[in-house]
Amino acid sequence: MDFGIKGKWALVCGSSKGLGYGCARALAGEGVNLVVNARSSSPLEEAAARLRDETGVEVRSLACDITSAPARIDLLATAPQVDILVNNAGGPPPGDFRKFTRDDWIAALDANMLTPIELIKATIDAMIERKFGRIVNITSSAVKAPIEILGLSNGARSGLTGFVSGIARKNAAHNVTINNLLPGFFDTDRQRSNVAALAKQQDVTVEVARARRMAMIPAGRFGDPAEFGQACAYLCSAQAAFVTGQNFLIDGGAYPGTF
Ligand code: NAP
Repeated sequence: MDFGIKGKWALVCGSSKGLGYGCARALAGEGVNLVVNARSSSPLEEAAARLRDETGVEVRSLACDITSAPARIDLLATAPQVDILVNNAGGPPPGDFRKFTRDDWIAALDANMLTPIELIKATIDAMIERKFGRIVNITSSAVKAPIEILGLSNGARSGLTGFVSGIARKNAAHNVTINNLLPGFFDTDRQRSNVAALAKQQDVTVEVARARRMAMIPAGRFGDPAEFGQACAYLCSAQAAFVTGQNFLIDGGAYPGTF
């Protein structure tokens, strides 16, 4: 299927690796030009070069912390226009909620709620004018099924989800959609470091901790960032114009509810 987005420009935040990279790669595969971003420059440049070599699209890159307001201005200026916005940043650390400080909360809100809102604010009016816009926020399965030790993530991402739900419908008539993609367990660096922390906490080997986590997934495996990216590319397609304000769980069947 041709997704009808060849030649559009996407800003994909947090995209040197993992789920963000998966989204960038799938969009580039559809002929979408990219602005990619991450804090560390050298993995970002490597990712940008790989995307160019594999797909032939134009890829611009800017290494910066997406939670910084001046950095966001520079990043937005890197793209000739933003037709597609993929919001992503690192997730907050796990922990006992009694030990989370105000600073911990502000950092989580900045990364996983306020930064996506600021980027939506900065791009949506031009999307409305051009009568095309696709916004995808990478959130977490924890929005639907909160994980106790991820209180910062549960809280901040639920705030973003509520905000998005409130504005998504209003822009649909202009062919501008906003949806959230909720990853379950995907095979990324973040997942690997979470499993290593879990192994330490449970006093077992990393292999045992990984097997225990995998046993929680009916599909019997971790997700591949490439398949996450393909779902993102669909939500950014011309065909997805009728889909907005939704929360798509991609978790190999781990969430047990009917809705
Ligand atoms: P990852 O493999 O660690 O990749 C994160 C990417 O974002 C990297 O490119 C990283 O590069 C960049 N990044 C992080 N913080 C940034 C910042 N402040 N500004 C700019 N770039 C930043 O993580 P992932 O597994 O893909 O996870 C992506 C998001 O999905 C996270 O919020 C995570 O909590 C959430 N999530 C993941 C899973 C999973 O199973 N993987 C499940 C649920 C939710 P730099 O470090 O160089 O900045």
